[in-house]
Amino acid sequence: MRITILGCQSPYPGPDGATAGYLVQTATTNLLLDCGSGVISQLGKELPIYKLDAVVLSHYHHDHIADVGVLQYGIMVHQNVKDRDANHPVPIYGPAEPADRAESLTYRDATRFFPVDEHSHIEIGDMKLSFLRTEHDVPCYAVRIEANGKTFVYGADSGPTTKWEPFARQADLFICEGTFLRKYYTPKELNGHLTVELAAQAGQQLQVKKLVITHLFHAYKEEDILEEAKSYTYGECLVAKEGMQIVL
Ligand SMILES: [Zn+2]
Ligand SMILES: [Zn+2]
Repeated sequence: MRITILGCQSPYPGPDGATAGYLVQTATTNLLLDCGSGVISQLGKELPIYKLDAVVLSHYHHDHIADVGVLQYGIMVHQNVKDRDANHPVPIYGPAEPADRAESLTYRDATRFFPVDEHSHIEIGDMKLSFLRTEHDVPCYAVRIEANGKTFVYGADSGPTTKWEPFARQADLFICEGTFLRKYYTPKELNGHLTVELAAQAGQQLQVKKLVITHLFHAYKEEDILEEAKSYTYGECLVAKEGMQIVL
């Protein structure tokens, strides 16, 4: 399984950056996880958009879905010129609520919406996906992907009361949000998000083999993030960047 970070910034993309988006690939399957601002431009460096097998959206905040509309236009145009069969819309999986957002994920022949929740188990090509409701101010799901004997957990947006056990235990890769460096938050703001420090503690407790801290303000410095992630010593800790690839 190969994971390419297409976007990792929040709440908006800095110069040449993008908000949440991750391309997950095996030899046979191409899956896009979240589709934030700037993600379609970054995706084009890796894969023609019409080759996507599916899209999974963790929740419907703008930094995770801003590029869905242009993805739908793009798929439609590629179907018109026969790059992709009009009988094969791209499935988009996501929460059922808010309903108006969910409904907008079905568009002409380009895309079809399918609801998921914490009981869903779906297969996309050779990937097996399951979901965990996280603490956030709208329905939001972390995603666990198993393929070729490896496990990748994407934590989506998540507050400190999210129950990661056993969902993320000993994952080969945990991409976890660390929205706030210490000096940039008050405890009130932590509602629905983690600090870098809390992400590191979660990774350590869960004994994940690799921890990638994401959902970062674009002006944060990598050394400040690594400094506050020091409590994670179980494996390798990386700071997410557009273009970073991890092979499991
Ligand atoms: Zn959010
Ligand atoms: Zn977010």
